[in-house]
Amino acid sequence: MTKPYKLVGRNFQQKNTHIQVGDAVFGDGSFPVIAGPCAVENEKQVISIANSVKNAGAKIFRGGAFKPRTSPYSFQGLGKEGLLFLAKVREETGLPIATEVMDVETFDLVEEYADILQIGSRNMHNFSLLRRAGNSDKPILLKRGMAATLAEWLMAAEYILEQGNTNVILCERGIRTFVTHSRNTLDLSVVQAVKKESHLPVIVDPSHAAGIRDQVISLAYASAASGADGVMIEVHNHPEDALSDGTQSLYPDQFFMAMKKIKAIHAIIGKE
Ligand code: PEP
Ligand code: MN
Repeated sequence: MTKPYKLVGRNFQQKNTHIQVGDAVFGDGSFPVIAGPCAVENEKQVISIANSVKNAGAKIFRGGAFKPRTSPYSFQGLGKEGLLFLAKVREETGLPIATEVMDVETFDLVEEYADILQIGSRNMHNFSLLRRAGNSDKPILLKRGMAATLAEWLMAAEYILEQGNTNVILCERGIRTFVTHSRNTLDLSVVQAVKKESHLPVIVDPSHAAGIRDQVISLAYASAASGADGVMIEVHNHPEDALSDGTQSLYPDQFFMAMKKIKAIHAIIGKE
């Protein structure tokens, strides 16, 4: 029986897709780490965090210039100014940039600055955005919708591949459940399920799954042991003053310590 998703399916391509961004390769058995603040707030903030996460071993810097916020009264991101600060980070640290693109209208602009274009959980079902991403030559980080099944998530990726862009990195970021002790529930079982169904790399974002700093570190360790192709972690130099997601952002020294253990855990599971 043929699977509904053609291009993203293992039956279409047996070999894992490898996606190289700077020094990082997603899907080759290594474990690149993407780190940075939820939102770009100012130049000093991003340069400081970027230097810290680079020093700890992160391969890619993250930071949102266009933020999808639940409330229209919350900080919406700096827009183009934020992208300029991200370009400065890349120039000064050499780290490639991952940043969210929220809509078709701003796609060209974000595409010009980003090394990886993130499509967020809330936009996983935005089919015109997915098609536009499929016409980009930049890698796409496709987050799982917060109520999406594996099949729906892979179908969203299919929209991108179908338009010609085969560089899609999937990202599990927690799903909405009945629990109240965390923001979402990290679905780590999906990692192996993705690997069975698809050749695309899959990474894990423990920050948006937990929503609470104290849970993020152990979930990052679990992600490293899960066979995922990397993690994305929010780090802030002053989380208590962060304009977005401060409660889940690690302090730079916490991130530094966590990276050492992540490296050790990844070695234990004996990936090539
Ligand atoms: C983010 O990465 O900052 C973000 C908004 O993520 P998600 O789409 O997973 O909520
Ligand atoms: Mn965030």
